[in-house]
Amino acid sequence: SKELLTVNHLKQYFPIKGGVFGRTVNYVKAVDNISFTVYEGETVSLVGESGCGKSTTGRAILRLDEPTSGEVIFDGSNLLSLSKKQMTQKRKDLQMIFQDPYASLNPRKTAVQVLEEAMEIQNIVPKDERRQRAIELLETVGLSPHQADRYPHEFSGGQRQRIGIARALAVNPKLIISDEAVSALDVSIQAQVLNLMKSLQREFKLTYLFISHDLGVVRHISDRIIVMYLGTIVEIADKKSLFHQPRHPYTRALLSAIPTLDPDRKTERILLKGDVPSSIDPPSGCRFHTRCMYANDRCKTDAPELRPVQHGAENHLTACHHMEEIDSGAIQAR
Ligand code: SF4
Ligand code: MG
Repeated sequence: SKELLTVNHLKQYFPIKGGVFGRTVNYVKAVDNISFTVYEGETVSLVGESGCGKSTTGRAILRLDEPTSGEVIFDGSNLLSLSKKQMTQKRKDLQMIFQDPYASLNPRKTAVQVLEEAMEIQNIVPKDERRQRAIELLETVGLSPHQADRYPHEFSGGQRQRIGIARALAVNPKLIISDEAVSALDVSIQAQVLNLMKSLQREFKLTYLFISHDLGVVRHISDRIIVMYLGTIVEIADKKSLFHQPRHPYTRALLSAIPTLDPDRKTERILLKGDVPSSIDPPSGCRFHTRCMYANDRCKTDAPELRPVQHGAENHLTACHHMEEIDSGAIQAR
């Protein structure tokens, strides 16, 4: 199917100021040269531990923070070359939902007013039809018209997230970037909101870029998964390949930490040594080498590129010099 979003060589370096003159003394390399594509109608998840650059990527795509360099091709145009005004118009097609809808909902606006405002900014529904449309949207996300004139504090967390979703839908987007949208909710409510997102996807032909640290949630919703580590992409695969045949040592470790009900699962929990290094001076070569139990000298100097895995699904890419030897057992974990 059609490419909806292509990110090319995206970098997001945040300057660190220091000294008496407040000069830039270094950079946080939050996202460092990543490329990926999202096709129309699919759900692609960006996963990784906090600080890996996944939220930064979402914000850079929408230019909530201006990226340092790269390209973001959305629906045929490079978003990074649009003027501010053109970008505001584009927001009709790309919406974001956040972890804490309470923080992003104006406490003095009722549910209906929040949605009317979104329509007004994009000037998409005639003024006298907005209220009716807003009420329909609330019903679409499972809220009752009786709740239309309530304020954010009168809703539960799950209901507020539904309002956040309705607000995104109010402008008829093509792509929704969801940043930890269910992370703050109880597990049972998480499932309800994820199911809602799935059914809305079918109904409105939406494409999702789904940012989450939680592989259990990601497993529920994704078609494809992108694993990030310290500002780079280490693995891209469809959900089945990623969960059944992870190739990158980091992905293997992440997956080994998810509790499972599968009695046949033989993999033991892989405990990574040390903490995630700082993205100010990330390790040379493979950024994972300081924690990888397969690392050798080459890994310390030579940065691995994403490349297709052998004997795997098409479009399964991994950035590891030694994935074949790890698979075959030719290299042992240390
Ligand atoms: Fe580990 Fe080396 Fe592969 Fe990086 S390239 S994941 S350090 S084996
Ligand atoms: Mg985040």
